[in-house]
Amino acid sequence: MGRDPFVVALSPLRAGAECKVVRSGRLESALVADVDCRVPAGAEAVAEVVVLAFDGGVSVSGTVSSAWEGECRRCLAHLEGPLVAPVREIFRRGGGPDEGTYPMTEDQLNLREMVLDGLFAALPVLPLCREGCLGLCPICGADRNVSPCECRRDEVDPRWSALDVLREK
Ligand SMILES: [Zn+2]
Ligand SMILES: [Zn+2]
Repeated sequence: MGRDPFVVALSPLRAGAECKVVRSGRLESALVADVDCRVPAGAEAVAEVVVLAFDGGVSVSGTVSSAWEGECRRCLAHLEGPLVAPVREIFRRGGGPDEGTYPMTEDQLNLREMVLDGLFAALPVLPLCREGCLGLCPICGADRNVSPCECRRDEVDPRWSALDVLREK
């Protein structure tokens, strides 16, 4: 295994000192938020941050970015685009997820977990090709964005069937 591109050596940093750090590397495996949305395996992830040292740790703030891809939640069209997430985290010797920080050693830290967490949190929850996407017809499967089909919506939508029942009474 080669050197981890997300490792940052800290030896020249004294408390109060800050430095700009840019690190990038390819992700070995995909980051999957759900079936519709992911950072694909092999994507290049970039961290552009300022590392500020304090006694016992550092704060890391800036952005992490990558590319994401997925399918429109309504019409299943392929989607892709840039993913940029702000990060503001603390790395501490003896730190860890229990206290909401990331661990580090005396003279180095690894940004990888923070990069993955930041990208994961930034993935779209409801990916849509566009705000007003009409989606696929649940009966015939036609893409309603391309052509309206003849299917009657009220035959499948349970809310409308409930209204029909009321009407019959
Ligand atoms: Zn769509
Ligand atoms: Zn239809």
